[in-house]
Amino acid sequence: MSDIDLIIQRLELRGHRVTQSRRRVLDAVLAQPAHFTVDDVLRATRAPRRRGPPVGRATAFRTIRLLLDLNVLCRILLDDGTLHYRLSTRGHHHHLVCRDCGRVEDFTQCDVEPLVRELAKAMKYEIDAHWLEVYGRCRACRRSTKEPAGAR
Ligand SMILES: [Zn+2]
Ligand SMILES: [Zn+2]
Ligand SMILES: [Zn+2]
Repeated sequence: MSDIDLIIQRLELRGHRVTQSRRRVLDAVLAQPAHFTVDDVLRATRAPRRRGPPVGRATAFRTIRLLLDLNVLCRILLDDGTLHYRLSTRGHHHHLVCRDCGRVEDFTQCDVEPLVRELAKAMKYEIDAHWLEVYGRCRACRRSTKEPAGAR
């Protein structure tokens, strides 16, 4: 089953109709590179070869929100504060983000759970979510700056 069919199936199973504008947002999402912003998606829906009325910003936001809830996308907070999205069906995970090249890697081992449980107990909170991104420089970027001084 192709990605688009899988997403449409998930939407329909949850009782969401795949309207024409939603479909255009989905197509635009699937055409994106590794990770993207809502604006990137909007721009793609407005590419010259697309026909029909333009997709509104609110529709793009709502559709992306829905895809997050359906566990089709995950969101990534880049070092510059912009919120990116990427296709992911792997469930709860976190990201390693390279400050230099913007590369994003997933990691699934989540050692935050015990802390969250303690916090819930100590602060009498009902905690239902947490978010963790780790920033640094990836292997390739570290290697590229290990050139001898003056080489650049
Ligand atoms: Zn992710
Ligand atoms: Zn890098
Ligand atoms: Zn976690």
